[in-house]
Amino acid sequence: MYDYKAAFQTAVEQVKGEGRYRVFADLKRVRGQFPRAVRRREDGSEQDVIVWCSNDYLGMGQHPAVIGAMRAELEAAGAGAGGTRNISGTTRSAVDLEAELAAWHRKEAALLFTSGYVANEATLTTLQRLLPGLIVFSDSLNHASMIAGIRNGGGERHIYAHNDLEHLEALLAAAPADAPKLVAFESVYSMDGDIADLGGTIALARRYDALTYLDEVHAVGLYGETGAGVAERDGVLDGIDIVECTLGKAVGVMGGYIAADAVIVDAVRSWASGFIFTTSLPPALTAGALASVRWLKAHPELRAAHQQRAATLKARFAAAGLPVMPSESHIVPVFVGDPVHTRMISDLLLEEHGVYVQPINYPTVPRGTERLRFTPSPDHDDAMMDDLVAAMDRLWTHCNVARLPAVA
Ligand SMILES: *Cc1c(COP(=O)(O)O)cnc(C)c1O
Repeated sequence: MYDYKAAFQTAVEQVKGEGRYRVFADLKRVRGQFPRAVRRREDGSEQDVIVWCSNDYLGMGQHPAVIGAMRAELEAAGAGAGGTRNISGTTRSAVDLEAELAAWHRKEAALLFTSGYVANEATLTTLQRLLPGLIVFSDSLNHASMIAGIRNGGGERHIYAHNDLEHLEALLAAAPADAPKLVAFESVYSMDGDIADLGGTIALARRYDALTYLDEVHAVGLYGETGAGVAERDGVLDGIDIVECTLGKAVGVMGGYIAADAVIVDAVRSWASGFIFTTSLPPALTAGALASVRWLKAHPELRAAHQQRAATLKARFAAAGLPVMPSESHIVPVFVGDPVHTRMISDLLLEEHGVYVQPINYPTVPRGTERLRFTPSPDHDDAMMDDLVAAMDRLWTHCNVARLPAVA
């Protein structure tokens, strides 16, 4: 008899043996108190914590405008969408949201998916069906959902070294001139916090007649005058053929989308299995996301406060001799370099200091570059930073972790 149970156990033991077994904190968010939350320990006791690693970057997940819109829509339209859009039609607020998103990115159309992961996976798979012979050029640090879509498409693909435009150009130049091509990359890389050279990548893509596909998941709501992302900040919205974003991070709700020319969106809508055969987002979610996007567009001061908080935390870690990695964005990664210490520091920060920051391990980042990743929001005040820096300083000494900045 095949020992199924043992096979599963071996898989779990392997992860444990490598020190990268993942434990999720049991947290209760309390509306109006973000980034404070209440953690429940395994013995059932409770602890007040400050959340330092949320991707709800601006606290929009608890914003009164968002909650109000969700509550009103829940009362007006009920809980679920009732099926796929093919079967059950489209919720009004989803149509309005798609129009709002398209306008935000200055595209003709947008299409919602149930998550950013699904948007990437479904779209990148489908583009390879729509464009037979498509050659995909993919940045080596692209997100798992992009990799999944590119692989599932089954076509020819080339990985270029992270943000290395010379390498990208060499690969583009080596491909047949008349083959359809797509360059897939991100704007803000969320584990290192670096930002791609959008203008340079677009220029290369144009030179070799390739489409551009940009994941702005960690930038939407956060960069650009109206928050449309780094492409808006850099003045290159028109150079991106297909932009993909999430509604689950800075927008504070859930869902994903692409925005592009109407004909591209129509083709993906008509062919993408991951769009067609799944129940659409509930009305309250699309209404909440719509309220959030409208708020974000009109409130650049939130983005300014966010950047200010991130800059302050980086400076304070550096002043304390902690190896903060050279991030250009709102992400504040601190290098540890092995999974066991990363886990230990994370555990001690939580248990002894009420600081919640998840360890970032392989396969999210390469082995040997394990780190802590802080995402301060406008709601993380100076007193919270005082406590955090003091706790980190003590633990760095206690655990004897290197203080020199390490280059990943
Ligand atoms: C989180 C993430 C996604 C997936 O978005 P979800 O809405 O969470 O599914 C896609 N791309 C990147 C770069 C991400 O970090």
